[in-house]
Amino acid sequence: MSIRDHADRTAAPGSSLDAARRTRELATAAGGGTADLLVVGLGATGAGVALDAAARGLDVVAVDAHDLAFGTSRWSSKLIHGGLRYLAAGQFDVAHESAVERGVLMTRTAPHLVAAQPFVLPLTPLVSRAQASLAWAGFRAGDMLRLAARTPRQVLPVPRRLTAAEARHLAPSVRAAGLRGGLLSWDGRVTDDARLVTALARTAAAHGARVLTRVRALGLGPTGARFRDELTGEEGEIRARAVVNATGVWAGGLVDGFRVRPSRGTHLVLRSERLGALPAGLHIPVPGETNRFVLVLPQGDGRTYVGLTDEPVEGEIPDVPEVPETDIGFLLDVLGSVLDAPVRRDEVDGAFAGLRPLLDTSVPGGPDSASVRTSDISRRHAVLTSPDGVVTVVGGKLTTYRRMAQDAVDAAVAARGLPSAPSPTAGLPLVGAAGPERLRDLPAPARLVRRYGTEAPAVQALAERDPALAEPVLPGHPVTRAELLWAARHEGALDPSDLLDRRTRIGLVPEDRAEALAVAAEVLARATPSGV
Ligand SMILES: Cc1cc2nc3c(=O)[nH]c(=O)nc-3n(C[C@H](O)[C@H](O)[C@H](O)COP(=O)(O)OP(=O)(O)OC[C@H]3O[C@@H](n4cnc5c(N)ncnc54)[C@H](O)[C@@H]3O)c2cc1C
Repeated sequence: MSIRDHADRTAAPGSSLDAARRTRELATAAGGGTADLLVVGLGATGAGVALDAAARGLDVVAVDAHDLAFGTSRWSSKLIHGGLRYLAAGQFDVAHESAVERGVLMTRTAPHLVAAQPFVLPLTPLVSRAQASLAWAGFRAGDMLRLAARTPRQVLPVPRRLTAAEARHLAPSVRAAGLRGGLLSWDGRVTDDARLVTALARTAAAHGARVLTRVRALGLGPTGARFRDELTGEEGEIRARAVVNATGVWAGGLVDGFRVRPSRGTHLVLRSERLGALPAGLHIPVPGETNRFVLVLPQGDGRTYVGLTDEPVEGEIPDVPEVPETDIGFLLDVLGSVLDAPVRRDEVDGAFAGLRPLLDTSVPGGPDSASVRTSDISRRHAVLTSPDGVVTVVGGKLTTYRRMAQDAVDAAVAARGLPSAPSPTAGLPLVGAAGPERLRDLPAPARLVRRYGTEAPAVQALAERDPALAEPVLPGHPVTRAELLWAARHEGALDPSDLLDRRTRIGLVPEDRAEALAVAAEVLARATPSGV
C-alpha cells in the first residue's frame, strides 16, 4: 500500500473526536490551567472561531451545551450564497463578502462539501414579463459578484435563459401549460450544513483545540466561564485569557448590552419521488411579492426541502423550534402555484425550523423597533466587545462563518493583548478537502466523497472489512452503518441523536428516525473501546 493509499484509509491526524478524548480534554480544560481563548457555542460561527484561533497557534477550548451544530447551523437552506439578495437591498459590502467567502469554500477550504447548484426559475403565467426582466437583471448582477470575487465560471457557471422545452426538462413537475421558458442560475450548496460544522470542529481539533460537547456555559466573564458537564451534572470553571460568545440566538442570555431578534425560517421535507426527478432546484416566486421566492432544494439523499419562511419570534428561545401549521400551509400554497399536482399536507414527510440570530439594531422602544420586518434586518454580522472584554459575534450567515470568526478572534486578541499571527484560514483546507482531480480519483462512491472528501475511502474501508457495516441504516435511505460507526469514532457523536440528527440527517423524517434508533444504539455500543 502506498503512503497516499494508507493516508486515504485513516482519519486526518489529530482530528478524531470521541467520548474518550472529550473526557480527557475536559479534565485538562477544567484542571486549573489557563487557555488562551475559550469559545462558547459550536455552530458554524463558534467552530470557525475555534479553528481560526487554533490555526494562529493559540491554545483553545471550545464548548457547546449540546452537540456540534445543535443550533441554527443545522437548520439552514444549505446555500453558500453569492449575496444576491443583499445586493437588491443595497448592502454591497455584505454581498461582496458573501461572494468572496463562497469562492473560498468552493475552491480552497471545502471543495468536497460545497458544489455548484443549478436553479430554474420557471416562467409560468404567474410571472409577469416585468418580473422576469427584474429577476434576470438580478441573476446577471449575481454573476458580476462572482466575477468580482474571482470565482471561475468553471466552478460556478454563468446564468442563462431557457426555452420552454429546456425548462420542462429541468423542472418536470412544473405545470407545462403556459410555461414560456425559464431562467437558469447557479449558487453554492453545502452537502450538509451540520457536516460543515463537524469538519470545522475536527480541523480545529487537528490544530490542537479542545472541542467539548455537552458542556454548558452557565456564566461568562473576561477570564473564563463557569460550566456544567451535561453528562455528569458536575460544575467547574474553565479559565482563559480571552472569551468569545458565539451562541447565536442564545447570545443575549450570556452577555448584556444587546438584543437578538430571532426570525423563524421553516422548510418542508418531501420524499424526492413526490416531485419526480429534479436535476435542478427551483426558484418559485411568491405570488403578490416582487423579490421573494420559495426554494425547492433537492438533497441527493432521496429527500427534497422546500423553504422558507421569515417570521419574527418573541419570547423564550426553545432548544429546537416548533414548526407552526401556518408556515407549512404557506409553503404548500406557493409550491402548489406552479405544480401540475399540488402536494397535499399528508404528503409532507417532515418539517424543520431554525431561528436566524439577527441583531436588533432598532432603538429600544423607538419607532422602528416593532415595525421593521425581520426580513429587512441586515444579515451583516456584528462583533461586540463588552466593557469587561468578552467578545460576542452574532448575525451573519453560514456562508460568512470564516470571516465572522476571523473578525471575532482579531477583536479578542486586541481586547486581551494576546500575541497572535494574522488569520490563516482563507487558505486552510478543512478535514477531507482536496482539489477536484484528487476528489474524482478517490476509490470511493461519489456520495461518500461529497460527505467525507478524502476520508471517504476510510469510511468505505470499514464497510469492506465488515459487510454488516455496508448495510443501510434503513431501507431506502443511502446512509450505511459504517457511516454511523465513523461518526462515533471520529466525529464526536456521543448518542443516537448526534448520529441521526446531526452527523446524518435521517432524523428529519420522524418515522425514519424512530426506525433507525435501535441501529444507532447498536453501533454506538460497538464504537466504545470494549466493543468491536
Ligand atoms: C431557516 C434558516 C435558513 C438559513 N439558510 C442559510 C443559508 O442557506 N445560507 C447561509 O449562509 N445562511 C443561512 N442561514 C443563516 C445561518 O444558518 C446562521 O446565520 C448560522 O448558522 C448561525 O450560526 P451560529 O454558529 O452563529 O449559531 P448556532 O448554529 O445557533 O450555534 C450556537 C450554538 O451555541 C450553543 N449554545 C447556546 N447556549 C450555550 C451555552 N450557554 N453554553 C454552551 N453552548 C451554548 C448552541 O447549542 C448552539 O450549538 C439560515 C438561517 C435560518 C434560520
